Amino acid sequence: MPRPIEALIHVDALAHNIGRAREAAPDARVWAVVKANAYGHGIERAFDGLRGADGFALLDFDEARRVRDLGWRGPILMLEGCFEQRDLELCSRLDLWHAVHCEQQIDWLAEHKTHTPHRVFLKLNSGMNRLGFTPTAFRGARARLELLPQVDEISLMTHFSDADGDRGIAHQLAVFEATTADMAGERTLSNSAATLRHGADPLATTPRVGGDWVRAGIMSYGSAPDYPARTIADWKLRPAMTLRSKLIGVQQLQPGDTVGYGSAFTAEAPMRIGVVACGYADGYPRHAPTGTPVLVDGVRTRIVGRVSMDMITVDLGPLPKAGIGSEVTLWGHGPADSLLPIDEVARPAGTIGYELMCALALRVPVSVTA
Ligand SMILES: *Cc1c(COP(=O)(O)O)cnc(C)c1O
Repeated sequence: MPRPIEALIHVDALAHNIGRAREAAPDARVWAVVKANAYGHGIERAFDGLRGADGFALLDFDEARRVRDLGWRGPILMLEGCFEQRDLELCSRLDLWHAVHCEQQIDWLAEHKTHTPHRVFLKLNSGMNRLGFTPTAFRGARARLELLPQVDEISLMTHFSDADGDRGIAHQLAVFEATTADMAGERTLSNSAATLRHGADPLATTPRVGGDWVRAGIMSYGSAPDYPARTIADWKLRPAMTLRSKLIGVQQLQPGDTVGYGSAFTAEAPMRIGVVACGYADGYPRHAPTGTPVLVDGVRTRIVGRVSMDMITVDLGPLPKAGIGSEVTLWGHGPADSLLPIDEVARPAGTIGYELMCALALRVPVSVTA
């Protein structure tokens, strides 16, 4: 029998979450952001769930080709644009819209031979200071693009650094609005956090972000971009990935007995411990401490001791009937409608849901379900 660990991708949850992006941004079109192999879900596996979006946004050209190979004829946006000049050939051939964030990319465009002019998203650095033209350089860059026969439509784009946090977006929104006030073209500003926290959702706050397109990444996969301030229950999102396994061993501990490497956990009273076929080589975070939540047979308990390569150990205190073969939910959907949001595992491990999804290991078999 194969090792009992597996991941499930929930197509209905993906479709539901895209619907949530639409509700939060009723006047905009929705990009499903599928970079990093659809945040670890697998582009091909996630496609049926996400195809209700208006377009796909990503940054790897090979992944863009895979989206076209799935038969998608609608918009695809390359979020970082071209990495070298010959990427423009792929943009022409695969009809990819692409960000333009630096002068070099305009130079490449000016030398590019194409029959079909490109749609580009000119990126403003409104304060994040990763990619994009400064407010002073933006107008000049736009003027250069307007003169190029290789370019037809110019859209405007920026990215928020603090849409999920206390600093918020007002300062960057002001820069974007001041810089682009008199410019024609569609706009895209919001990631998931801005879409939810500064959109039309009843829980949203001001300032409201407009825009013609929102870029729904993490929310599509059922993780709250601003956890723990808000949860997926607050935002009415559903987990799109389940990681589950089974108990492969049980130990009865006496007071003073320790568990696992480094004897990191010591039993204070008699207790039963379950051994789960899942470790950091499967993508479970090694830094998850004792107390990190886990479901056994759908009942919430905690991990104890150190996470090792192939195993973790869990407290069976709340589960006197659990034994070898009992189902363990590391995150996502458990039996009988039980749920363990990935955010609740990421947080104690000192990381975010994004990283856990993206780190799902290759050795874990994945299947697609409703
Ligand atoms: C990844 C990415 C997004 C999506 O961000 P989420 O927080 O996952 O919604 C949006 N825009 C750009 C430019 C990105 O790189």
